[in-house]
Parts: sequence; C-alpha cells; structure tokens
Amino acid sequence: MTDTTQLPNPPASDGRSFDELPLSPGMKANLKQLGYLTMTPVQQASLPVTLARHDLIAQAKTGSGKTAAFAIPLLTKLNPRRFAVQAMVLCPTRELADQVTQEIRRLARAADNIKVLTLCGGSTMRPQMASLEHGAHIVVGTPGRIMDHLDRGSLNLEALETLVLDEADRMLDMGFYDSIAYVARHCPANRQTLLFSATFPDGIARLARQFMRNPQQIELTEQHEPHKIRQRFYEVSREEKLQAVGRLLRHYRPQSTLAFCNTKQQCRALLEALHAQGIYALTLNGDMEQRERDQVLIQFANRSCSVLVATDVAARGLDIEQLEAVVNVDVTPDPEVHVHRIGRTGRADSDGWAFSLVLPTDRHRIVSIAKMTGSVPEWHQMDELKDEDDAPLLPAMVTLQILGGRKEKIRAGDVLGALTGDAGYTREQVGKINVTEFSTYVAVRREIAAEAVRRLSAGKVKGKSVKVRAM
Ligand code: ADP
Ligand code: MG
Repeated sequence: MTDTTQLPNPPASDGRSFDELPLSPGMKANLKQLGYLTMTPVQQASLPVTLARHDLIAQAKTGSGKTAAFAIPLLTKLNPRRFAVQAMVLCPTRELADQVTQEIRRLARAADNIKVLTLCGGSTMRPQMASLEHGAHIVVGTPGRIMDHLDRGSLNLEALETLVLDEADRMLDMGFYDSIAYVARHCPANRQTLLFSATFPDGIARLARQFMRNPQQIELTEQHEPHKIRQRFYEVSREEKLQAVGRLLRHYRPQSTLAFCNTKQQCRALLEALHAQGIYALTLNGDMEQRERDQVLIQFANRSCSVLVATDVAARGLDIEQLEAVVNVDVTPDPEVHVHRIGRTGRADSDGWAFSLVLPTDRHRIVSIAKMTGSVPEWHQMDELKDEDDAPLLPAMVTLQILGGRKEKIRAGDVLGALTGDAGYTREQVGKINVTEFSTYVAVRREIAAEAVRRLSAGKVKGKSVKVRAM
C-alpha cells in the first residue's frame, strides 16, 4: 500500500468547519443542528478524498468520528428518488451495525425519506427480505447475513455506488475474510470502496489489493493530550493481581471503569474476584447471546454497573461515553493496543485514569510502551492505596427491567410518565431509559429502586399493568 500520509492529530480547537466542503446546504445545516461544528481529524483528512470519489483506507482510533467520515460521502452521492441499494456498510457485529445505522439516520435527516436497513444475523430472514422488497437506499449489516441475502437473491447490488468496510481489522479477527471477499465480488466493479480500521494487520493489505482501486491511505497517529490521561503503573505479583483491581477501584472510586484482560478466562476470574469483594461488575464476551450483551451495555451506559470487564476484541468499537478509568489488568504485549485501550478514557473535557498492573515478567512491555509514546512511566506501589472496605463501592443507579418493549408499543415517555406521575418520583431520580424489542430498561437512583419496583408493579404503564424487576 502506497500513498501514506502521516497526519498528527491537530488539537481540537484547530478543527476546520464542514462549511469548507462541497456539501448541500441541507447537510451543512443538519450537521450544525447535530452539534458537529468542526471536523474531527479523520474527517478533515478523509472527506476531501472521499467526496472526490477516491477509494480510501483510513486508520483511526475508536471514537474519532469514522462513521460520519464515510456516511457523509455516501449520502452525498445518494439519489433518494432511485429505489435501489446504493450504499452498503459491512460491520463485524449487530451492535456496531445498529450504531452505524443510527448515525447514518441522524446524518440523513436533511434529505427526504432515505431508507436505511440493518441486516444482521440473530433476526429472522423473512422480515428482512420483506423490507428489502419495499426498497432500501442503504444497507448496513454483518458479512455473513449479507452473504445469505445474496445467495437467496433477496439483495440486489447492481446499483451500488459505495461499499464501506467498517472496523475491518475486527472483521478479519472474526474470520470474515472470505465472506467479505464473496460480498465484494457481488458489487459492481466501478463502485467506490472505503475501508476503516483501528489497526493494520496483514489481511487489510490483501483486501485492499484485491478489492480496492488505488486507495489513498491516511493514518491518524494517536496522540493523547498528556494531562488528560493520568497513567500509573503498579508492579504486582501474579497472586495479588486480581485483588489489586478491587483495591484500585476502592481507592480511586471511579464511576465507570473498563478493565481489560488478555483472555476470556482472566475476565471470568476477575469477575469472580470482584464479586467476592462486593463490587458489581459485568463482562462482555463473544459467547454471549445478543440479549445478554445488550443488557450489559445498557447497565454500563446508564450507570447502574460501574465496572465492565472485557478483552480487546469484545470491547472494540464500543462507543462508551464518560469512562473515568481504564485498568490494564493484563498489560498487552502490543504497545499500540495499550495506547488504544487507554485512549478510551480522558475524552472530551473530562480527565481520565489509566492504571496498569504489571507482573515483574511484563516490565519489558512497559519499556516498549514508554519508547513508543515517548513518555516516562510513573511507577507506584500498591501499599500507597488505602484499603478500607467500610464504604462499599455501589453504582449510583439501579436498572429496572420492565417486561414489554417496542412490540407492546411502549415508549420512553410512557415509563418516565409512570414514574413521575402516579409513582410520584422526580425527573432527577430517573436516569436513562432504553426500550428494546421485548423489554424496557430504566435506571433509577439506588435509594428508590426497591420502592420503585413496587410502585410500578402496582400501577400501570401505558394503561396496562406490567411485570417489573430490579436487575
Ligand atoms: P468511530 O467510528 O471512529 O469509533 P463514531 O463515528 O462512532 O467514531 O463517533 C464517535 C462520536 O463522535 C459519536 O457520538 C458521533 O456522534 C460524534 N461525532 C462524530 N463526528 C463529530 C463531529 N465532527 N463533531 C462532534 N461530534 C462528532
Ligand atoms: Mg466506528
């Protein structure tokens, strides 16, 4: 791959306005409404290239605004009056496909009636086929399911103008090379292909050679603002490591923490150790059913679980706001992955903590990290941490699950209405509300949780009695 442009991340204040780009007045107005006032670095580097219809390979970290970087050019090219699939985005998981679909819908608000359809496994084929028959302009999905639709002839790609491979490295990790190749071969040759990735493993170059035409390549080197992420390294023995995570959490008391382990087994062991110490933590892994994953992410995002334990693969691509701390329970052998992990905290205008638990045999990994980031590691001792377990570490909120969701036409407003109306609570005692297909999840202040379950069960939501439980 040639044409590499190394672009340092400009400071946020240096971002240029979307007004410089050849976009429709409607798109520009919508971006302003969404609060997208300046371009992020990856958008600034890629949009001039992609709007000129060149193929592009872009490497940038999670949370850097890659979705808009491909959604804006594909929407610009789209003809809403043509009822055919004109753009397709391949994503590794349903979760990511849902996130991308939502972002595309937000960005498409200015144009009339653009249909975006999500096609992923885990849902039945038939309704997807019916939706395709009704016509979609944009399809977002996982490679396996898209392949199924191509096989059955329910998805026609003759009018496709733009193919996007999002989180390409993760799709390769998950063994999707052949499915991607199969799908790409079904796309018209004169399409534009855009590939987004957080890292560049070998498979990416192979994909690019086979399926892209003279792609331009941009790479946004990660440079965290040093004062925003406070990084501390603790040397621990193998025996004390899992205990050490609990001690760190009790000492620093972060509201929300992502704890990285290198293996699934370690994730399980840590979860057990934390539970034994009375710390409510949840984990994400590839073996979980979609519904379980959704429940975990909802509880983490609505602040009723303050610790999420995950491997790099399981955490990739999750757009988690306001992460106060990252704990490297196992130091990763790859310095680039380390930088990526800790970049999850210290976003926007909040500071973040990054703690690493280092075995004596892993000290050399810290040397490589320091070399790569040009920083001097700050070493600390475990015994600097106070270790009183008097004040328990409880999340501020508790999630209540209400049986009944979109299928029962429940909306967030109905639940908020029930809680602030008949049940007599204030708006401030109620947190995020997520309505899924069959369930509704509402976060409430911990102090009122038990009573809120009783009052909701005794009352009505949308005129009906409901089953409610605290999670
Ligand atoms: P990535 O795909 O690189 O992980 P996303 O596309 O999910 O990142 O974007 C991360 C967040 O940043 C989203 O919440 C998105 O709405 C927001 N965002 C993207 N571009 C801008 C922008 N130019 N200005 C403000 N917010 C933005
Ligand atoms: Mg993304």
